[in-house]
Amino acid sequence: MSDGILVVNAGSSSIKVKLYAIDDADLVPLLSGGMSGIGSAPLLSVTDGNGAVLEERRFEPGEIADASAAQHQLADWFSRHGSAESIIAVGHRVVHGGPDFAEPVLVDDAVLRRLETFIPLAPLHQLGNLDPIRVLRQRRPDLPQVACFDTAFHRGHPELADRFALPRFLHGEGVRRYGFHGLSFEYVAGRLRDLAPGTADGRVVVAHLGSGASLCALKAGRSQETTMSFTALDGLPMGTRCGALDPGVVLHLIEHKGMTPAEIGHMLYRESGLLGLSGLSNDVRTLLASDRPEAAMAVAYFCRRVAQATAALAVTLGGLDAFVFTAGIGENAPEIRRRIIAELGWAGLILSNDANRSGAARLDAEGSRAQIWIVPTDEERMIARHTMRLLGRTAPGAAA
Ligand code: ADP
Repeated sequence: MSDGILVVNAGSSSIKVKLYAIDDADLVPLLSGGMSGIGSAPLLSVTDGNGAVLEERRFEPGEIADASAAQHQLADWFSRHGSAESIIAVGHRVVHGGPDFAEPVLVDDAVLRRLETFIPLAPLHQLGNLDPIRVLRQRRPDLPQVACFDTAFHRGHPELADRFALPRFLHGEGVRRYGFHGLSFEYVAGRLRDLAPGTADGRVVVAHLGSGASLCALKAGRSQETTMSFTALDGLPMGTRCGALDPGVVLHLIEHKGMTPAEIGHMLYRESGLLGLSGLSNDVRTLLASDRPEAAMAVAYFCRRVAQATAALAVTLGGLDAFVFTAGIGENAPEIRRRIIAELGWAGLILSNDANRSGAARLDAEGSRAQIWIVPTDEERMIARHTMRLLGRTAPGAAA
């Protein structure tokens, strides 16, 4: 049995895992699985590398009440099916590396304690991310575990991109523009270097448009600025998150509507964005299929904001050589791509409608002043590569 790397992506109500075999030339996906509906309708599911279902088991809510229980259940499954012995290391997605971590890190007790201090920066996510690390340290203390951060790719930002225009002491206390989706942007930057090395050396905006959405300005493959900031609420409107918002609105909700922080948090994270705008759905497929004017407005709003934010990042970059779509919407929604590029027509971007409809990798038409690409993202593979690198093994297929 070849050595394996397990990648764990744990949230507050779900854990996703992916097992890769280390092959000479590549990382080969062997198993994907996870537990969803933790505490409400727990479902354990596992598929093989080709997507064939190996396990689908439902539990009573009380049986899998929290992420630790889910993690034990998953670990038991891997042990029972003989996959656990092959695992030589585990890579975890951890949302927040705070101001310190600009790289993935091997987790020991001191690192774990430091990562716990970032819980207030991303309460729901960080707790869920650290839980499986603790569980696995108890079960397999010998197993190297690597934390890979959504924030790390952005840590080299110049001060101009890292600060809020707030009193200086707050920056020192950690109130700064961290940015997220870093593992996705790093993977996409590496793939772009494979596909078009000259372009990857230039000025590129990557649009990660999924249920969360953010843009990243890359110069020579390095992040210069990004639209999310202190939390994953800032920047673009998303499925259910509001995106950039006048902070005066939050003051209004507190002072004049008597809302609590929890109520406001719920509204901004869960009831806003495309869902809030349309009153219908957070999913662009539903919105595009609807004939309700609110749905059309939500789509138009989203595309306008993506284009506006692209223009802002092009200022940071001093121009634009390529625009890259990635993640669920970016990879799969030609109509959204068409509208975003149409909004950027003033900057000389021209889309090939045929390439866009067929989902080709390269989408710009002749005469376009910037290239346009679809580069599918793969955050799990990025985590697997980082994990191997920290073990001192060269990550197969690692271009960047
Ligand atoms: P995340 O990983 O952040 O949960 P994804 O990157 O998987 O999100 O993106 C999920 C979103 O992608 C969905 O909410 C949906 O709006 C959009 N999406 C997925 N497939 C399609 C499709 N075929 N057409 C349009 N949108 C799609």
